[in-house]
Amino acid sequence: MTETQLIDGKAFAEKLLSQVAADVAQLKEKTGKTPGLAVVIVGEDPASQVYVRNKVEKTKAVGMNSVHHVLPAETNQADLLALVETLNRDDGVNGILVQLPLPKQIDEQAVINAISPDKDVDGFHVINAGRLATGQEALVACTPTGCMMLLKDRLGSLAGKEAVVIGRSNIVGKPMAALLLAESCTVTIAHSKTKDLPQVCRRADILVAAVGRPEMVKGDWIKPGAVVIDVGVNRIPAEGGKTKLVGDVATKEVMGVAQAITPVPGGVGPMTIACLLFNTLKATKMQWKL
Ligand code: NDP
Repeated sequence: MTETQLIDGKAFAEKLLSQVAADVAQLKEKTGKTPGLAVVIVGEDPASQVYVRNKVEKTKAVGMNSVHHVLPAETNQADLLALVETLNRDDGVNGILVQLPLPKQIDEQAVINAISPDKDVDGFHVINAGRLATGQEALVACTPTGCMMLLKDRLGSLAGKEAVVIGRSNIVGKPMAALLLAESCTVTIAHSKTKDLPQVCRRADILVAAVGRPEMVKGDWIKPGAVVIDVGVNRIPAEGGKTKLVGDVATKEVMGVAQAITPVPGGVGPMTIACLLFNTLKATKMQWKL
């Protein structure tokens, strides 16, 4: 029986953040300027507020300037677009993140595509998606970027590996698949209409689950020795009327089958925010032509 290792995303993210902080310090010394990240939140969704607070704290911790705009839930699209435009023109802002989801009256895609592609640190702009798809230098979505770092750290070259990505969202599944393809994996993208998903998963040397269904992926779906990246974050009821977080993979069942798996929490989650700051640094260097 294989001894399955848990991939410590928290430790990896801390190392990455220290590296970003060191690079930021060097940039400041060289240019006399400080990179800045602007985060915009519309409304008072409690989960979004926690994410944003965390982003602001981490931004400051790596030595970047943090600009934080909180707009009321009833904000209209024109006002949000006007703010984005102001941030696009602001030289002190190198990265712009509009926290999703946005209230119903606002067209998310229109807002994302209004962000300057060079400041689009979430990597959601159609130009960055297109650059990624065509193998050009791009700002790539944070969660898949973090997953790739963990995979490469674990496996080295990914060339020739069978990779299965469950989920085809624009923010996780599709960019994840594009990154795996760019590393010469043979990639399958599965989704809700996929026939015989367990059998599809069984061919994966690398399995990425980005679905949003608690513990959907079972132990007998896993090829022995596979590396499993569990992106899912699902809150489920636990003992004593409490709740707990679980991923999309039934982790206990996978132990002893997979080579390694990212735990939830403590796997992909911490990498996402670290990659946001990694992307902000990358965007800054591109803008300052360094
Ligand atoms: P979406 O809801 O946008 O996409 C989910 C995908 O899963 C869809 O493509 C859907 O298929 C597919 N799917 C749904 N049900 C099934 C099924 N029964 N079998 C196969 N495929 C299915 O979610 P996201 O991509 O935004 O997020 C996915 C998960 O990752 C969520 O749990 C989210 O919370 C988590 N997440 C975690 C992050 C982190 O930092 N750790 C960051 C971002 C997301 P179809 O397209 O056919 O509907």
